[in-house]
Amino acid sequence: MLETLRRIIHEVNGAPNLGQALKIIVESAREAIDANVCSVYLTDFDTQSHILRATVGLNEDAVGKVKLPLHRGLVGLVAERAEPVNVDEAATHPRYLFITETGETHYHGFLGVPIIQNRKVLGVLVARQKEPRRFGDEEVTFLFTLAAQLAGAIIHAQSSGELEEIQQTSQKQRRFHRGQPGSPGVAIGQVVVAYKMADLDVVPDRQSADIDKDINIFQQAVDKVIADIKRLKGNLGDKLPSEDQALFDALMMMLSSDTLVTRTIALIRDGHWVQGALRMSIEEHARVFDEMDDVYLRERASDVRDLGRRILMHLQSDTPLEIEYPENTVLVGDDVSAVQLAEVPVAKLAAIVSTTGSSSSHVAILARAFAVPAVMGVSDLLVGRMENQTVIADGYRGRVYLSPEPVVLGEYQRMLDEDRALSDELSGLQGVRCESTDGIEVPLYLNTGLVSDIGKFGVQESAGVGLYRTELPFMIRDRFPAEMIQISNYRRVIQAFHPRPVVLRTLDIGGDKPLPYFPIEESNPFLGWRGIRVSLDHPEIFLTQIRAILRADIGYHTVKILLPMVSNINEVDESLLLIQRALNELEEEGFAVKMPEVGVMIEVPSAVYQIEALARRVDFLSIGTNDLTQYLLAVDRNNSRVADLYNDMHPVVLRAIQQVVNTAKDTRCPVSVCGELAGNPLAAPLMLGLGVDSLSMSSGSLLKVKWVMRSFARSNARQLTNLALKMEDSSQVINFMQGALDDMGLGRLIRPGR
Ligand code: PEP
Ligand code: MG
Repeated sequence: MLETLRRIIHEVNGAPNLGQALKIIVESAREAIDANVCSVYLTDFDTQSHILRATVGLNEDAVGKVKLPLHRGLVGLVAERAEPVNVDEAATHPRYLFITETGETHYHGFLGVPIIQNRKVLGVLVARQKEPRRFGDEEVTFLFTLAAQLAGAIIHAQSSGELEEIQQTSQKQRRFHRGQPGSPGVAIGQVVVAYKMADLDVVPDRQSADIDKDINIFQQAVDKVIADIKRLKGNLGDKLPSEDQALFDALMMMLSSDTLVTRTIALIRDGHWVQGALRMSIEEHARVFDEMDDVYLRERASDVRDLGRRILMHLQSDTPLEIEYPENTVLVGDDVSAVQLAEVPVAKLAAIVSTTGSSSSHVAILARAFAVPAVMGVSDLLVGRMENQTVIADGYRGRVYLSPEPVVLGEYQRMLDEDRALSDELSGLQGVRCESTDGIEVPLYLNTGLVSDIGKFGVQESAGVGLYRTELPFMIRDRFPAEMIQISNYRRVIQAFHPRPVVLRTLDIGGDKPLPYFPIEESNPFLGWRGIRVSLDHPEIFLTQIRAILRADIGYHTVKILLPMVSNINEVDESLLLIQRALNELEEEGFAVKMPEVGVMIEVPSAVYQIEALARRVDFLSIGTNDLTQYLLAVDRNNSRVADLYNDMHPVVLRAIQQVVNTAKDTRCPVSVCGELAGNPLAAPLMLGLGVDSLSMSSGSLLKVKWVMRSFARSNARQLTNLALKMEDSSQVINFMQGALDDMGLGRLIRPGR
């Protein structure tokens, strides 16, 4: 074999380019170790994949086309471990990934060796055998030596630019437009452009010829838009959770009672013609939202402009738009509004692409409620030329492919099939208990409120509501909602989940969540007037909310109250006194109210160090890992400049959770986790290992987390947790947990759509 090796090395060194070198390696290696197949996959960090670059034995058409995501399959395992993987029966290995394009139907034996240079894995050299075969030590070292030789050729190709050229040729076929993920999922469909119906910006200034007539036609146009919106809301029927229907109510409210109408009429009375008056008042209103700090509220400006365009359309022509929607409609527009979205029949809507906006836009929120993929902020699209084109919308990675090549279509079709298979598999878990393999139950609750998740699925599948963020009903109004409005809001949730518990968190404003009618100007809002601090300084607001919660709970008694942003013990004492006071008042007024359980959010470091005192005072604790991470790591969770530093899988976050759980145990106070970490399948074994009593998450995570929980025994989870707790940074924890889930065959859960 030594002679063969020498000959191959000699030939590789003499090869004119990398392509030739790869060809020599695969051909000679296959012959030398008498394998059926020999292939080389090279690592491409840009596309985060291993790309098949040479093969003998497999379908050669697959070269350059088959891309294995970095951490998937046996090839991914070889690269991750930077060690050979040698198995006689590949298909039984938990990391095995079946690939159709290469035509590898009948292969059993697998040997993969990493191609390494300077500790970096550059690719994987693979040999396959039709029969079950474990390759011998000599064969393994033979491939190792060849791989080392190849590493030199790859590095040379890198420095000469040859490798880049190879990669770009295949990437040319995969060119995509980059945006932001707005709603997860992938869709292939036909573009329908959401045109601006009328352009307010080009309306000129003119004098009104007849003020009364102008006012009259303006009011008629407004009435027609109200009727349009009612119709659209009706179209959505029960497809849209009631919380999101509030958007349409808010739009109608803007048109019925808001200053938008009176302001326009005042401008007409000042002498402006109706279209000009409309343009001015819409711009004034939209600007108020444009200038808000909160991204969610800033996005409301596009709703206001959309309303303006609709009114203008009625003023200008009065002809409603008739559009033929194809079966897989991908709605594309410069500023797709929630109302335009509502015009597409739900069954035909495949995806949404918008050149502006972000994941906080209403349209993205609605897309998530519909479980339709959305890509936002794809700024380089020429929307006007896209009508009827085939597109791929990748809501996982925020990509849009226009008229994609068959190779790309094939890849995405496979991804869609995988997604479908995954959700079919997940649906088998509906209704079963969330417990570890040794019977430890960890109930999963639903997070809802800010983004509506009260769909049928969430109601059926969760153990109740673990976190209802009461900010939303406060945010979509123009003043603090009265007690009665709050009661009906809370009761809707309580009734939907009865007899399961509903944890209502008291108003958590400040920080990144200001109310439009209650401005808080601070230079350091995250360390300022937030959450419970605002409520205690405004007992009238807090008491109204508590009264509404207690009254909504009459006859049900399933509510629990959760206090946000607690940093000092006296905040809990004062809150408890106020809750008691509201209860006494209501009893005196003759209401059959009951004292609910009260809990505290653990989301600032000082709370972590006061668990004993807190747990003695309240009935439960809920760890808000979103804020806790930002305060522990001193990273603003919304600041893109430091976004790389924000990671809730950081070992210090895990250590803080450990401290909370262990201390709370002494007082028998239950602990739940309700931040994003709770819904991350990667973290589920850690939550089990740490001994968290329950988790609360958005509905999309419920089955994935359940699957992971049902795959681990508590003892195994504890071992993993003990190791993770000792790690030094978040990437170590993430890689480690990816490996742990991969080993359990759960890799697909953590790399959706890949
Ligand atoms: C948290 O901080 O983890 C949390 C759940 O609260 P919010 O995200 O609403 O601040
Ligand atoms: Mg929080």
